[in-house]
Amino acid sequence: MHRKGRGDCRVPENNRLNGISKDYLDHGDQSVVCEMCHAKLWNDEATRGKRKETKVTYSLCCHNGAVELPPPVRPNPEYEELFKSNTAKSKFFLKNIRRYNSMFSFTFMGGKVDASINKGKAPCVFRMSGQNYHAIGSLLPKDGAKPKFSQLYIYDTEKEIQNRQTIFRDTDADTSAAEKKLDTEIIIWLKEMLDRQNVLVKTYRMARDVYNQQPTTDLKLRLICSRQQDGRTYNLPTTSEVAALIVGDIEESFEPRDIVVNKVGGKLEYMNELHPSYVPLQYPLLHPNGEDGYRTKIKHRGVEDDDGNKRPYTTMREWFAYMIQERVGEFSKTLYSRRLLQQILVDGYTMIESERLCFIRSKQKELRFVTFENLRSLKE
Ligand SMILES: [Zn+2]
Repeated sequence: MHRKGRGDCRVPENNRLNGISKDYLDHGDQSVVCEMCHAKLWNDEATRGKRKETKVTYSLCCHNGAVELPPPVRPNPEYEELFKSNTAKSKFFLKNIRRYNSMFSFTFMGGKVDASINKGKAPCVFRMSGQNYHAIGSLLPKDGAKPKFSQLYIYDTEKEIQNRQTIFRDTDADTSAAEKKLDTEIIIWLKEMLDRQNVLVKTYRMARDVYNQQPTTDLKLRLICSRQQDGRTYNLPTTSEVAALIVGDIEESFEPRDIVVNKVGGKLEYMNELHPSYVPLQYPLLHPNGEDGYRTKIKHRGVEDDDGNKRPYTTMREWFAYMIQERVGEFSKTLYSRRLLQQILVDGYTMIESERLCFIRSKQKELRFVTFENLRSLKE
């Protein structure tokens, strides 16, 4: 990439590289560091720095120090290498990362992905239309049907690798025999890693074991929404905190946002985007331990009570803004995940929009009242 000094952003005529727009901008390096959350920012995006107590903070990364979230769990070194190294295995993994993620995701993503936009040699674009949603199917497929998504963790697991590979086939006709071997090797490796460390995978494997031992027993899985621990310091729940396996015909009381997955039945359950497992169920490769995604009631830094504080909690927009920063001493899988990054950004945008609409709907009465008050004060 051609690099230029700050100030004059245009590439000189005689120095222009082929195919690079004359409007190509170079923002230099990430030379600014937020002293509160340690995000590395470009000078041009960090212009609204504020001094908070003794530290200089920025709005873009942590809302001037208000947002406080736990540091990401460092992936095991071999997994980190897949994102960072230059080997044939790493290149193949990153090229196919969306496919691998779909292969292991529990939920089905609705909306229509428009692949027609990716023509020619332009950088890949992720575009979707229609209403976006994530839905989860029953624990087992209908009679005679092939298992999909979360069902792959429970049903016909002797042929699991083959089942995953068949559903999410490599569509590239030029794939060589060596690459096919690499593909199988990567799928086996990912499966073993997730089995070892992902709390959501462990829960589904428990359901599989119960089903294998007692195939006729009624079985349900409750994906729990509430969390007891402080979201500013804690995002790695245990298996019993994320889900409960209900064996037999026992009636339990559920929270309204809990998801109850039945043993059989073709009905898809729509997930609420405020559920802490909404993101990890769709993006197991970015949340390999089943780490919680966004959840409500994560307090802003220093907020101990709600009295008189208009915005005491981290919003979904602030959560995403915080998560997509590169920080000193941390490794962000998300930022290195290429096409999967594009997907989660588009998905995240629709989640934020949906949360905003939900807020407007729930505050309809108050909002109308404020508008009326404003009109009255205009008249007076
Ligand atoms: Zn910050």
